[in-house]
Amino acid sequence: MQIRRAVVGAFQENCYFFSDDQGETVVIDPGDEAELLLSVVEREQLTVRLIANTHSHADHILAIGPLMRATGCEFVMTAEEDAFLRANPPTSTAYLQVRELPPPPTRYVRDGDELVVGTIRLRVLFTPGHTPGGACYYAPEQGVVFTGDTLFQSSIGRTDFKGGNLEQLLRSIHEKLLTLPDETTILPGHGDPSTIGRERRFNPFLQGWRG
Ligand SMILES: [Zn+2]
Repeated sequence: MQIRRAVVGAFQENCYFFSDDQGETVVIDPGDEAELLLSVVEREQLTVRLIANTHSHADHILAIGPLMRATGCEFVMTAEEDAFLRANPPTSTAYLQVRELPPPPTRYVRDGDELVVGTIRLRVLFTPGHTPGGACYYAPEQGVVFTGDTLFQSSIGRTDFKGGNLEQLLRSIHEKLLTLPDETTILPGHGDPSTIGRERRFNPFLQGWRG
C-alpha cells in the first residue's frame, strides 16, 4: 500500500493517489493540473480504477474529466447535493482557470458504502457542512481518512460559501471523524497531515462542542 500526494492548482489542493501493492489506485480529488497527475500515473505505473471526490468545489474537481478520459476510471461522489456546485462553481473560485467541469459521477455513493479497488477498502463517510454533499473516505485497515475540506490540521473547513453550515460541519466532524481511533491519520484537502487524536485534543475549533 502506498499513498502519494500531488499539490495542484492555485489553491494548493492535495490530490492523493492511494495504491495497493499491485498499483491498483484510487485518486482522491484530482483538483487541477491534469498533465502533472497523469505524469505521476505513468511514472509510477499506476492503474487508476476510481476517482473519489470529497466535494464539488472547483479546486477539487478540475482534473476529473481528463483523468477519466486517460484512464477509463470510474468517478464517485457522495451526494447529488453538490451537483449545483459542479454546474456553477462559486464566484469565489472564478479566478481559477476553469477549462473543463467534470461529467456527472459514474455513480453516487452513500454513507457507509464500501469502495473496493484491488485490496483497498474505503468506507464512505457522509460529512456535510463545508458543502451540502461533503464526504470523507476512510480506510480502516490502513488507519487513514481522507478528509477533504471538512477537517484540517488545527482547522476546519470554511462554511461561508454557498450551502455551507457550521453547525452541520461540527456535527459531521464530531460524529463521523472524532469517533475514529486516535491514531488514525488524517489526509486533508489542503495542508499537512495530522491524526484524529491530535485534532481532538488541540484543534481550537473543536473544543467545547455540546452536540
Ligand atoms: Zn472546498
